[in-house]
Amino acid sequence: MYDFSKGPVKFIRGGSYPHCNSVLVDGRVRAVIDAASDPEKLMAFKNQARVDFLITSHAHEDHLIYNYLFPESAFYSHSLDAPHFEEVKSLADCYGDMSPETFQKWCDFFVKECNYVPRKVDQFLEDGIVMDFGETRMEVIHTPGHTEGHCVFYFPPERILFTADLDLTRAGPYYADRTSDIEKTIRSLERMKEIKAETYLTAHGKGVYEGDPAYIDRYLKIIFDREDRLIDSLRREPKNLEQITAEGIIYGKNPTFLGAWDLTLSERMMIVKHLDRLMEKGRLGKEGKFFILLD
Ligand SMILES: [Zn+2]
Ligand SMILES: [Zn+2]
Repeated sequence: MYDFSKGPVKFIRGGSYPHCNSVLVDGRVRAVIDAASDPEKLMAFKNQARVDFLITSHAHEDHLIYNYLFPESAFYSHSLDAPHFEEVKSLADCYGDMSPETFQKWCDFFVKECNYVPRKVDQFLEDGIVMDFGETRMEVIHTPGHTEGHCVFYFPPERILFTADLDLTRAGPYYADRTSDIEKTIRSLERMKEIKAETYLTAHGKGVYEGDPAYIDRYLKIIFDREDRLIDSLRREPKNLEQITAEGIIYGKNPTFLGAWDLTLSERMMIVKHLDRLMEKGRLGKEGKFFILLD
């Protein structure tokens, strides 16, 4: 039933969006982390014995679609992401400014396709807290950047690190959320490198990696490569945001739809974050709507 297992820590792959991979803890205290993988396997786990905790790494729709299967479990999230579980509009608002029609389309998608049910967070995850499951324990590491409240989880006895949406895929880090931040993403990844894990489990993609920080470096490099491509593009000539977005520096020129997702929205949001970062560093200037490379 499991795609990876070590002691009481189990792993189930979830496949494509809006699914993600789940981690299960089968100790005296039992938990499901990111309940968005395979509903039958999640139910089988629940049918074995009571699931005490339902834990989410962060508030995105592809990490909550089977939360509703665990109404009796104590629900955990970081306080900074908690409002987005309690009100669907709060979650939709994370994705930036959009027309009222698009906003409504998002809310409908979350409710109808992602089984969004408003839910109050029972317990807040905080950096450094250790959760005791009897047979193992888990350290919460607050790793903002993807979202403000994003957390990763380390199991010291098994030396397993669940990196959630710092997912080490070749697609690279995602920071298109309103609360996303490139600098924080970099710092969070640097912090993950310090953890002496034997295994990395991730929320997307193949999901199981040897605990080698080179995977984190490869993932970090994607951020810097994107920035280099942006600089090269602006070195050729000053451009406005629409022109830069159309170049598809992050997701390619004709990005596909992902569920309700129009990736050009993400492209635009992420380019804005890169432009802001370069402006802060004094490497870019702006004339009217045009961004100009200064060095
Ligand atoms: Zn996410
Ligand atoms: Zn995700």
